Amino acid sequence: MSRLVLVIGLASSLLSFSTFAFGDPAMVSTSIADRFDFPVGTPDADGYQKSRGFNVRGHLGEDWVSSAGPGAIYRAPVSAVGNGVVSLARDFKRSWGNVIVIRHAFYEGGQLKYADSLYAHLDKIFVAEGQPVTRGQQIGLVGNAHGLYHPHLHFEIHRNTTIGVVHTSASRSLSNYEDPSTFITQHRVLRPASGKMVVDIGSYTMPTYAGIPARPFYTRNSVSRIASSNSAGSRPSVFQMLFGH
Ligand SMILES: [Zn+2]
Repeated sequence: MSRLVLVIGLASSLLSFSTFAFGDPAMVSTSIADRFDFPVGTPDADGYQKSRGFNVRGHLGEDWVSSAGPGAIYRAPVSAVGNGVVSLARDFKRSWGNVIVIRHAFYEGGQLKYADSLYAHLDKIFVAEGQPVTRGQQIGLVGNAHGLYHPHLHFEIHRNTTIGVVHTSASRSLSNYEDPSTFITQHRVLRPASGKMVVDIGSYTMPTYAGIPARPFYTRNSVSRIASSNSAGSRPSVFQMLFGH
């Protein structure tokens, strides 16, 4: 029986690799999210609190600080809230600073859904675009957006996976943005899923200000070696089911 599992695992690896080798460099394999946890003090945000909450008409995410006092969160670990793949990881300068976005696939009400989690103002980034991550994995350190703010984690969850860091690319509605804590609280127990999905991480509207490449780039060896002549806008935005779930 264990040999059978091994064969299935090997076949899945080959299948994923063939997608990398012959497909679009923006298509990356990821484990399906089995649950979502909080990004600081993971899994339950122990020792941390919100200094500013989500408001779909105002603040499109949450600001997290340490319960130990102002500034105590500086350089605290930031964790991936669920299994997924890093879709953006770079310095966006200006008000954002260092930002990580992770694309997640998960089951909700029997249907496959997807969402992006966003972690901003980071002091350090430990992951690269195209890299798969697991829930609870340390992905960076809390920062202050290059000295612009008091240290805090700005955290968002997007249902609309074209937004990235460009808020003006989608309307301020709950169909595009989630209340992050509510989303996590409502997605702590998901349908178990052991398979993998291929997700498109090239669907973002990118900022156009100085120093930011117009299109996403991919630094992971398995995807960066493939030159792309496709425009970001022509890529499919849907998931492709590979196998299992
Ligand atoms: Zn904020």
